[in-house]
Amino acid sequence: MYSLAGKRVWVAGHRGMVGSAIIRALADKDCEILTVNRGEVDLRDARAVGDWMAATRPHAVFLAAAKVGGILANDTAPVDFLVENLQIETAIFAGAHATDVEKLLFLGSSCIYPKLAEQPLREEALLTGPLEPTNEWYAIAKIAGIKMAQAYRRQFGRDYISAMPTNLYGPGDNYDLASSHVMPALIRKVDAAKRSGSPVVVWGTGTPRREFLYVDDCAAACLHMIQHYSGDMHLNIGVGEDISILDLTRLVMDVIGYDGPIEHDKSKPDGTPRKLMDVSRLAEQGWRAKTSLRDGIVEAYKSYLAAEIRNKN
Ligand code: GDP
Repeated sequence: MYSLAGKRVWVAGHRGMVGSAIIRALADKDCEILTVNRGEVDLRDARAVGDWMAATRPHAVFLAAAKVGGILANDTAPVDFLVENLQIETAIFAGAHATDVEKLLFLGSSCIYPKLAEQPLREEALLTGPLEPTNEWYAIAKIAGIKMAQAYRRQFGRDYISAMPTNLYGPGDNYDLASSHVMPALIRKVDAAKRSGSPVVVWGTGTPRREFLYVDDCAAACLHMIQHYSGDMHLNIGVGEDISILDLTRLVMDVIGYDGPIEHDKSKPDGTPRKLMDVSRLAEQGWRAKTSLRDGIVEAYKSYLAAEIRNKN
């Protein structure tokens, strides 16, 4: 067991959805939380990161900083997703090694798995086939991050590990329709459709299936892993159940209280047909998600409305 008590813990990417959830989860852990703003240290800049880490000496690092986005953003800005993520990973792993960071948890995503990998996705499916082309830029960078953790383990005996969460949603999500993932997009679209009485427009056919994990559950899993897991293999973080995009749309409409028509915009891509994780390894480590999809959407919608009010004021 690796205890966080009395440790300096750097959450890289603390303004992001996962990073801010990790900060919330660390609140009762009796550790000193370190964060640094983009204006102070550009995480893509290895020298700046190394200097900052040498000055602040974190004992543990959650590497939750990344250039992220939904299916359209990935497809249209491949350089940003590939290069910026590689730069961030390279800088932080090198800084961690140079400053003797005891434990590092690297966060990736379920899109690292081959497009046609057998479902549910087992950790062993990594690198067994071609990736989904709409997000392979991001996926390649995240696969490189897993390999960096393994490489630092092998070459230098470092206790650096990786977690691959499924699609996340909740407070702090990105609700910009051009770059968001499907859950925040649906929350925003259904809320707007309810106000105007217009149809809810769903991208693609609605038949792809996705799994959704509430972000505070993900943060709890990350804390569990950094404290209890030391292994070469990355671990999936998910709920082990999926839902079609159309059924998800109906569920979001039910939570928000709107039963207007649903329309499809078939000019938008479906992406990979199904993305469900096998979460048995993490379950063997003693962790399971506890927020139901409906409860999570209720909470996400509340935080969306609160952010809307803040933006208006
Ligand atoms: P993915 O999991 O990497 O494919 O990324 P997304 O979360 O962006 O998309 C998941 C699925 O939801 C895809 O099949 C999209 O076509 C579908 N989808 C339906 N409506 C929307 C929407 O308004 N925004 C997004 N991003 N996806 C949508």
